[in-house]
Amino acid sequence: MKRLAILGSTGSIGVSTLEIIAEHSDRFQVVALTAGRNLALLEEQIVRFRPEMVAVPDQENAQRLQERIGSSGPRILYGTSGLIACAADSPADMVVSAIVGAAGLEPTLAAIEAGRDIALANKETLVIAGELVMAAVAKAGCQLFPVDSEHSAIFQSLKGHRKKDVRRLILTASGGPFRNWSLDDLQEVTPQDALAHPNWTMGRKITIDSATMMNKGLEVIEAHWLFDIPVENIAVHIHPESIVHSMVEYVDGALIAQLGIPDMKTPIAYALSYPERLTLDLPPLDLCRLGQLHFATPDSQCFPCLGLAYDAIKRGGTTPAVLNAANELAVEAFLQEKVGFLDIPRIIGSVVQKHTTTAASGLEQVLAADTWSRHAAQAVIHEIQGVSYS
Ligand code: NAD
Ligand code: MG
Repeated sequence: MKRLAILGSTGSIGVSTLEIIAEHSDRFQVVALTAGRNLALLEEQIVRFRPEMVAVPDQENAQRLQERIGSSGPRILYGTSGLIACAADSPADMVVSAIVGAAGLEPTLAAIEAGRDIALANKETLVIAGELVMAAVAKAGCQLFPVDSEHSAIFQSLKGHRKKDVRRLILTASGGPFRNWSLDDLQEVTPQDALAHPNWTMGRKITIDSATMMNKGLEVIEAHWLFDIPVENIAVHIHPESIVHSMVEYVDGALIAQLGIPDMKTPIAYALSYPERLTLDLPPLDLCRLGQLHFATPDSQCFPCLGLAYDAIKRGGTTPAVLNAANELAVEAFLQEKVGFLDIPRIIGSVVQKHTTTAASGLEQVLAADTWSRHAAQAVIHEIQGVSYS
């Protein structure tokens, strides 16, 4: 029986993870759950999976949850300390890191330092603090399994091969809903347009990141840290069908890829059960019916976020943390209709340009860069809105 703590259990990845666990209840036991503000869903999950501990964002939500479930339920914690306790003090063998954004960093790092294996969906953790996190993994001797479909594909495509024979990693990207749009068309994009992803059903933030292609930029940085490959050797191909989940090119020209229907259950299950494979109730991939697969080069003019991410990891140090935080604020401002779609890369570019890069080897430095970036991004957002900011 593998004991699991699931951080972000009410999100898209969290819910898919619990569906897999329910199908394989003989193999997995849930010991901790954490969620944001969806208390109704969290309550259902508590009743069904009987965790020992849960965490919610604040005291008010903790009290509301306590009233809903009564005194016989799990221990209810709150705030960052509650998240960290669920990640590091619960009796979990593996922690599923599926909170969205920078909020996932501290609990994930705490879980690593406590020696827990990690199923990593929260790519922001590696974007913000890749150096720190990978050093902590090496020190603790735990294992980090990618949940992101591209990274799971690369993880699988590297098996049985020598790292020195790798020439390039090739990440595939669907291109999002605006793949063939012009810059003029992109001016008019609304949150509703951007939230309609053609292939994947995901949380709001990653769906917008997919539309701007920042998601792929974050994934390039994630791949760099996970697989220890220079960013110069990580390429991105647009692949609108999202069937080839990513590939590894070897020095002899061989390309090894992993294919499958676009459903996150496959990479989640592989991270949970590695090296075994779980039987999943998913429709098979019918390549004959599909007939064709397409690949293209990303359009850097319409989707500058990808280039911003490459530049940030090349600058290194605190710059990726600044990129990530500015992106989080810009996406939120776009969702709230405070700024336009094309303002997202403008805000990020402007904040990153103002940043003086420093080393990112400690958590404090990384968190300070994150906070600085949020203030700087807020100021740019106010400027765009025409509000003077003092
Ligand atoms: P989501 O928005 O659907 O869910 C996020 C979860 O985190 C929810 O349970 C929410 O309550 C919780 N949460 C949000 N903010 C929080 C905070 N400040 N403190 C504590 N909890 C908080 O997001 P998602 O789509 O499931 O994505 C989760 C992570 O997985 C992201 O980092 C995303 O990039 C990554 N990922 C998602 C997918 C996907 O298909 N959804 C694929 C690959 C990677
Ligand atoms: Mg992905």
